[in-house]
Amino acid sequence: MSELKEGVLGLFGGTFDPLHVAHLRLAIEAREALGLAGVCFIPAGNPALRDAPHCSAVHRLAMVERALAGVPGFSIDASEALAAAPGLSYTVDTLERQRRLHGDRRPLVLLLGADAFARFEAWHRWRELFALAHIAVATRPGHELKVMRSGTPGGGAGDTALDGEFAARRGIAADLADAPAGRIVPFAITALEISATAIRRRLAAGLSARYLVPDAVLDYIESHQIYRTPHGH
Ligand code: ATP
Repeated sequence: MSELKEGVLGLFGGTFDPLHVAHLRLAIEAREALGLAGVCFIPAGNPALRDAPHCSAVHRLAMVERALAGVPGFSIDASEALAAAPGLSYTVDTLERQRRLHGDRRPLVLLLGADAFARFEAWHRWRELFALAHIAVATRPGHELKVMRSGTPGGGAGDTALDGEFAARRGIAADLADAPAGRIVPFAITALEISATAIRRRLAAGLSARYLVPDAVLDYIESHQIYRTPHGH
């Protein structure tokens, strides 16, 4: 079937304020662990449920573009970042758009870190996401999603609506190609305690972010003088 020839596509949304090496490792390891044909990075426009990004969507997109230039298997969907309407961006809208782009049958997998999955129930129209894509949750070795059902990082006591969805939808990588959407698949990645927040703090304090972000991102940050203050520029 042609849609299977195209393979399972990973969708990796984030603020990327800035993109850092843990983001890149998540995408690479997801590709390997889940057998993805590729990963499409989707920089958020104006994400709900968090403070406004410190730097503009144009800067954040430019950093992702520089980091991914020439890397096979990675692509970028700039439409959220470049949206003319400045409204909040919701993952459900992004997935609906991706679904229209790729047709009803291509398997799509939304890639999330475990911290993002822990907050999933707060997302706009979250239950509809399961009809639009699979969800793959990057966990650390030793923190399998069983842990998520009983407490951290799911945060619940094992009886939340999300816990119920997880129990019903739990799958393995091999399931992803069998359906266009609907599974929740945990996968282990190398643990890297790196966050964009900590990188912004370092930069605002005049400290180095080298090797926490790709060199091309660091060059961009320096040449555009961004993240020089704790509250953006
Ligand atoms: P911030 O510190 O500004 O909240 P962040 O570093 O968490 O940013 P985001 O752009 O918000 O980066 O994250 C995009 C996605 O990458 C989310 O799904 C998040 O869970 C995941 N992610 C970010 N950092 C890591 C990390 N160190 N290990 C695993 N996943 C991560």
